[in-house]
Amino acid sequence: MNMHSRPADPKKLIKGATGDWEVVIGMEIHAQVTSNSKLFSGSSTEFGGEPNSHVSLVDAAMPGMLPVINAECVKQAVRTGLGLKAQINNRSVFDRKNYFYPDLPQGYQISQYKSPIVGEGVVLVDTADGQIEVGIERLHLEQDAGKSIHDQHPTLSLVDLNRSGVALMEIVSKPDLRSSEEAKAYVTKLRTILRYLGTCDGDMEKGSLRADVNVSVRKPGDDFGTRCEIKNVNSIRFIGQAIETEARRQIGILEDGGRIDQETRLFDPNRGETRSMRSKEEAHDYRYFPDPDLLPLEFDDAFVAELKAHLPELPDEKKARFVADYGLSAYDADVLVAEKETAAYYEEVAKGRDAKAAANFVINELFGRLNKEGKDIGSSPVSAAQIGAIVDLIADGTISGKIAKDLFEIVFTEGGDPRVLVEERGMRQVTDTGAIEAAVDAIIAANPDKVAQVQAKPTMLGWFVGQVMKQTGGKANPQAVNDLLKGKLGI
Ligand code: ADP
Ligand code: MG
Repeated sequence: MNMHSRPADPKKLIKGATGDWEVVIGMEIHAQVTSNSKLFSGSSTEFGGEPNSHVSLVDAAMPGMLPVINAECVKQAVRTGLGLKAQINNRSVFDRKNYFYPDLPQGYQISQYKSPIVGEGVVLVDTADGQIEVGIERLHLEQDAGKSIHDQHPTLSLVDLNRSGVALMEIVSKPDLRSSEEAKAYVTKLRTILRYLGTCDGDMEKGSLRADVNVSVRKPGDDFGTRCEIKNVNSIRFIGQAIETEARRQIGILEDGGRIDQETRLFDPNRGETRSMRSKEEAHDYRYFPDPDLLPLEFDDAFVAELKAHLPELPDEKKARFVADYGLSAYDADVLVAEKETAAYYEEVAKGRDAKAAANFVINELFGRLNKEGKDIGSSPVSAAQIGAIVDLIADGTISGKIAKDLFEIVFTEGGDPRVLVEERGMRQVTDTGAIEAAVDAIIAANPDKVAQVQAKPTMLGWFVGQVMKQTGGKANPQAVNDLLKGKLGI
């Protein structure tokens, strides 16, 4: 469905004093290109070096130094464009965006303006209310600036140029998002795609992914309202908070009979508010013009075709395959493909096993436990082989689903081979009906009053099952217990 014509979803509207309001959001994401060296120089892009240790003469804008385009960054931008199912422009132009700032030694940023390397595309985003299509307006390559440091010295501001000249992809969405939830889901999905492609590590804490969030509000059915742009929001949670706060601020002004000034704002997470940075009148005139030091960037179809042929399987394709081949629900498949590493882990567990059982165990037990410890799949103390062994032990009836949880906890905290642990700790489930029968008989004999009750009210059976389980140390096969109890109690 085309999102420009998407009717307002009542669930997503914000209530105001004068009725419901719809939020409209468009995002500009700055994604640092994964590349060993910078966009126009050979200096390292490594994070966390000593200040000014990764700075070439080009990055410091020494007179007479000339930029040389890094082919790897171009490939990464094209690969990203392909991942966004976007138009790849075989000819694009680098422009100078002129402004003065201490951390910008050239006095301009090299960017792409009228002719970006990538044009329109689309990202499919899953939300609690189904899938939406978010249009991509463009993707262009540009240089990052350096960093001003104000808080290290009482009377000086310092400049670190390590980041100066690092390649960024600016990915601009259409104003297709309608709630903070949708916006967060969009950034999450975009980050997943970039990580699958290996074109940006998506690490928001290190600033590898930063969002400028454009927000406006309108009454459903009206034309778009005036937008404000909230600059440089650096976590997914803050993106949600910034949108909520800004939408309510705009609604308040409009309901008081005021109007929204188009301005650039900053989100302050500590105070939970957005603050004006500059209005449209104060906006820079960047005096864009084609950079005379760089030729237009041109490549042929074969260059693009070659990159396309080597793209990895992307999250949407992987999800479709998990649903088709493993019979998983769309929801489970979505959870599993959110990270390439979890998807690979899952496939190792599922290999040669009941794929749904494997998915349930990985999602419900492993992910739940990892979450609790704040760990990700890469630092999981339990390997895919160990999970696989537990799933096998359930499948062949050696342990019940309940014992499997205990066994998993032991493997998670202490390690070990699940098959060996089951024997060592006597965790085998009792399927021997003789032993279960003895326990059933004992419970029935000891509780004549309860027997009378259960015969009148069969839902009481659970109490008997619980008692038998207790007596057998939780190791009785639950199905066998149920069957025996029903037979003996005549229900
Ligand atoms: P500029 O070039 O001035 O930054 P663009 O038209 O390219 O402006 O839009 C920048 C971003 O703002 C895009 O992500 C776009 O989707 C978003 N946007 C445009 N109009 C609106 C609006 N009325 N409300 C919310 N977002 C908008
Ligand atoms: Mg902009």
